[in-house]
Amino acid sequence: MNATAPAPSSAVVPPPTVRTAVTVAHGDGIGPEIMSATLRILQAGGARLDLETIEIGEKVYARGHSAGIEASAWESLRRTGVFLKAPITTPQGGGVKSLNVTVRKALGLYANVRPSVAYAPYVQTKHPGMNLVIVRENEEDLYAGIEHRQSADVYQCLKIITRPGCERIMRYAFDYTRAQGRKRVTCFTKDNIMKLTDGLFHQVFDEIGAEYPELEKEHWIVDIGAAKLADTPGIFDVIVMPNLYGDILSDVAAQIAGSVGLAGSANIGERCAMFEAIHGSAPRRAGQDLANPSGLLRGAIMMLDHLGQGEVAARVHNAWLRTLEDGIHTYDLFHAGTSQHKVGTRAFADAVIERLGLEPRHLLPITPAKAAAIPVRSAARIRPPVKKVLVGVDVFIDEAGAQPADLAQRLKVLRSGQLELEMISNRGMRVWPGGLPETTCVDVFRCRFRIPDGTVGRASHDEVTRLLHSVDASGLEWVKTELLFTFDGEPGFTRSQGG
Ligand code: NAD
Repeated sequence: MNATAPAPSSAVVPPPTVRTAVTVAHGDGIGPEIMSATLRILQAGGARLDLETIEIGEKVYARGHSAGIEASAWESLRRTGVFLKAPITTPQGGGVKSLNVTVRKALGLYANVRPSVAYAPYVQTKHPGMNLVIVRENEEDLYAGIEHRQSADVYQCLKIITRPGCERIMRYAFDYTRAQGRKRVTCFTKDNIMKLTDGLFHQVFDEIGAEYPELEKEHWIVDIGAAKLADTPGIFDVIVMPNLYGDILSDVAAQIAGSVGLAGSANIGERCAMFEAIHGSAPRRAGQDLANPSGLLRGAIMMLDHLGQGEVAARVHNAWLRTLEDGIHTYDLFHAGTSQHKVGTRAFADAVIERLGLEPRHLLPITPAKAAAIPVRSAARIRPPVKKVLVGVDVFIDEAGAQPADLAQRLKVLRSGQLELEMISNRGMRVWPGGLPETTCVDVFRCRFRIPDGTVGRASHDEVTRLLHSVDASGLEWVKTELLFTFDGEPGFTRSQGG
C-alpha cells in the first residue's frame, strides 16, 4: 500500500473537547471485521467518542432472547442515546423477532435516512449523476405488525398511518433538506388507491411543506415515481415515503447508485439514534478479511454529523472519497480498468487512514455540515377538536359459498335502531346491491350497516352490540367489526369499489 500512499496528512486533529458516549455492537458474520475497521478510521480521524460495547445477534438469540438483545444492552442504549451497529445474522425459524424492528420501535426511531450517491467513474454505476436521499417513515404502515387470520380463506395485515407519525416524518424531512442545503422534497404515495392512509401522508406533506417556501415540493404516485427513480434518479433530491415503499425503494436506490455495500443509514428519534450499514452480515464472507467496511463507515460519518462532530465527519468522508478515487477497492467494487489495487478490509481501512487530511481530486469534497445535528423538533401541532359521530358499522361475516343476494336477504331483516344493511362487498368489491356474477368471492363478506344516507342522527354502541347479537342469533358468524364514523361531517371510511 505504501507505494500508492499520498503525502502524509497535514490535517490538524482538533483538540479533544467534549466526548460523546456511544453504544457499539460488533454484530455477526462480517460485522466484527467491518466494525473494527470503522472504529480504527474514526479514532485516527479524531472522533471524540467514549465507546460502550454491547452484544447483540446470534449469540443472544441462542441464549433465548427472542429479539436478539438483552436488558443490559437496553440500559446502555437508553443512557447513551446513540447506537453504532454492525449487521447481525437473524436466525431462521419461528419465534424470532427482527432486532432492527424491535430497536427502532422501542427507541422511537421514526426517521430512516439513506443517502444514495454515485461515485462515477471510480465505482461502476448506471447513473453517474445520482445523489439523492430517501427519508423513510420507520415505525408505521404495514410494519405495525398487526396481522390476523379471519377465516379459511382470508388473512389481513393492517396498514396504520397516524397524523402525529406523518407530522414527525415530514418535519424531519423538510428540516433535513434545509440543513443539508438541498433544494427539493418529493413525496411518494399511492393515495389514488389508499385515499385515507396514503391520502393523510400526502396531505401532511402539503401542510408541513407550506412552512418551507424556499424548497421545491412535488408528489408522485409511487409506481411511476419508482419507475422514474430506477430510470432517471438524477431528477430527485430528497424523497419522503411511508415505511413499505421506503424499505423497497431505498435498496433499489442503493443498488443502482453502485452497490449496497457502500450505503449507510441513520435511524433518528427524538431521544435516540442508530447508525448502520444497509447490508447484512454476509456470513459466507466472514473471517476472511474480504468485506467492504464502507457502508458501516458511511453510517458512522452520519453519526458524527448527528453528534455535532461535522469537521471529523468531513475529514473521514474526504479521505474515504480519495481512497475510492485512488482505485483502492475491496473485491465487491473491483473492476479491472478503473480499480488499481484489490485490498481486504484491513488494508482498505489503512488506506483511508493514510489519506486523512486529503480531499478527493475529482469527486466533490465534503465540507463540514452547516447544521451538524439536524434538529429533531417536536412535531405536535395544536388542532381544533373534531366532531366524531358514529354512523354505522362494517360487520365482516365468514360464510363460505354464500350468494351475495341470499346473504343480503338474511341480513336485511336484522335492524337495530336506525342501522340497516347498505351494501355487501367481498375483497373490497361491492357484490350487493348490484355486482357481477364474474366477481370472485372468498368466504369473508363485509356487510355495511348504516344510518340511511341523508338521515340526521347518530348510531350508538348499544345499537351496534344489539345488531351483532342478532347476526349471531341468525346463525351467521361475524369475525370482525369496524365502526364507521364521520369527522366534522366527513366520512372516516371509504366506499367500496363498484360502490
Ligand atoms: P447481505 O447483505 O448480508 O449479503 C448480500 C450479498 O452482498 C452477499 O453476496 C454478500 O457477500 C454481499 N455483501 C454484503 N455486505 C458486503 C460487504 N460489506 N462487503 C462485501 N460484500 C458484501 O444479505 P443476506 O445474505 O441476505 O443476509 C445475511 C444475513 O444478514 C441474514 O441473516 C439477514 O437476516 C441479515 N441481515 C441483517 C441486517 C442488519 O443487521 N441490519 C440487514 C440485512 C440482512
